[in-house]
Amino acid sequence: MPKKLAAGNWKMNGLTAGLDEVRALQAAHPEPSVGILICPPATLLSAVAGALGGTAIAAGGQDCHAEANGAHTGDISASMLADAGASHVIVGHSERRGEHGESDEDVAAKAAAAHGAGLTAIICLGESQAQREAGEHLAVITAQLAGSLPGGATAANTIIAYEPIWAIGTGLTAGPEEIAEAHTALREALEARLQDGAEVTLLYGGSVKGANAAEIFAVPNVDGALVGGASLTSADFSPIISALE
Ligand code: PGA
Repeated sequence: MPKKLAAGNWKMNGLTAGLDEVRALQAAHPEPSVGILICPPATLLSAVAGALGGTAIAAGGQDCHAEANGAHTGDISASMLADAGASHVIVGHSERRGEHGESDEDVAAKAAAAHGAGLTAIICLGESQAQREAGEHLAVITAQLAGSLPGGATAANTIIAYEPIWAIGTGLTAGPEEIAEAHTALREALEARLQDGAEVTLLYGGSVKGANAAEIFAVPNVDGALVGGASLTSADFSPIISALE
């Protein structure tokens, strides 16, 4: 069985005061039966990892550079994230692919760098509204998977997050049948590519909240969620975690 995970992506949100939310989440879930991960902005990573040290909740980065170090002003390497206390890093989020022009090849290189630093890579993929309307969504996401998975990917070091772009931050959630179709296609593609593809954790992302989490987690091949807006406060994130448990 793939491991279950509720992952929070704070995106470009959160100042030091956000640590109170992390502490509240920890208090609400002292012994969780599923994985919990918070990916704060890089400025807060050390503090969040420190606050969570010794608890069952992990901390992760939101992106990493493909190289280990060098002249890349403003960038952060996977080993820096690991050094700051991260166990995971999100790569290929649609906001990175869209705003920073990241290709599947770039994403695969970043995931490989994450693996090299001992991090689990959460590889994001998902179709646009236009691609879905054109009936291309399954071809798009399976091609993204093929192009974004680095050599050496296993269920132990790689998580896949299906995030239809039209459902991110819009309040629109893919319906259970749409999610089932995509996750089944991704599971089949993972099984064809990886020896342990059946064990890879497959997350859904896109306007997940307490009110829709249980319905989404009941969909076959959904092993958890990558949550943006509703991960910013313990009050919003905690019911999502409880729905996964
Ligand atoms: P959202 O973001 O939950 O705010 O839609 C999800 C994501 O982009 O990971």
